[in-house]
Amino acid sequence: MGLTIYLDGEYLPEEKAVVSVFDHGLLYGDGVFEGIRAYHGRVFKLKEHIDRLYESAKSILLEIPLSREEMQEVVLETCRRNNIRDGYIRLVVTRGRGDLGLDPKKCPRPTVFCIAATIQLYPPEFYEKGLEVITVPTRRNVPEALNPRIKSLNYLNNILAKIEAGLYGVQEAIMLTSDGYVAEATGDNIFIVKNGKLITPPPHLGILEGITRNTVMALAREKGMAVFEKTFTRHDIFIADECFLTGTAAEIIPVVKVDGRPIGDGRPGAVTWELIHAFRELTKVDGPAIYPE
Ligand code: PMP
Repeated sequence: MGLTIYLDGEYLPEEKAVVSVFDHGLLYGDGVFEGIRAYHGRVFKLKEHIDRLYESAKSILLEIPLSREEMQEVVLETCRRNNIRDGYIRLVVTRGRGDLGLDPKKCPRPTVFCIAATIQLYPPEFYEKGLEVITVPTRRNVPEALNPRIKSLNYLNNILAKIEAGLYGVQEAIMLTSDGYVAEATGDNIFIVKNGKLITPPPHLGILEGITRNTVMALAREKGMAVFEKTFTRHDIFIADECFLTGTAAEIIPVVKVDGRPIGDGRPGAVTWELIHAFRELTKVDGPAIYPE
């Protein structure tokens, strides 16, 4: 059975949910988006995702033609129309249809669509045994050019890094900043654990400020762990006790090898497992219910 898609005020069967070839989201990557998950009939961290969408849009001077409350209802209703209790939601706002020039003034109305489906970012066995990753030659976008804090439709930088990971036979790439600090993976944030401390790069370095990242930091602090947002290098990963990635699609996934070096004892670590369990518990209660309770 096909999906029902929200597109510009209507709920349409997927074959009717079509966007113009003149849409500047397609022609120029001019737009913003969110990836959101539903667990146990609730949309996890929905407010945080809607807020980040509107902040990304504000940063690129894109005025979303719906209020935040209306957008929240679009997400919930798209889930309902697709009978989603557990799934993955993609919410996209583009500059809309324009002409072949890149001037956004020629785009009178943004395009808004929402898809509620499912996703499997990495094969399930890696959640048990952990991922092997590499750092890749493609550096993360410098924030002075296109700030990675904007969740824009410009993912070519990340896609190139993902291709490079694939060329070396691994599932995921760690991208460095132009200065050589660890930034993030192609669709996930990165954490290391060293001597019981949790460390993740700061957003101003030029990374997406992940909602899963923020959730994991809050869970760790609730458990009394010391959490630091600070810059670190490949070497810090090599000598870390544990490493893991976080993202809406990825959730929390252990990393057990980086650039050929086993991390810790080469197996997912105790802190990582503790956070995975706490995260799973939180998904049972966080966010608005999709269906009346
Ligand atoms: N970094 C990048 C580049 C991403 O695309 C994502 C996925 N949205 C993340 C990090 C993780 O962010 P979140 O936890 O909000 O999904």
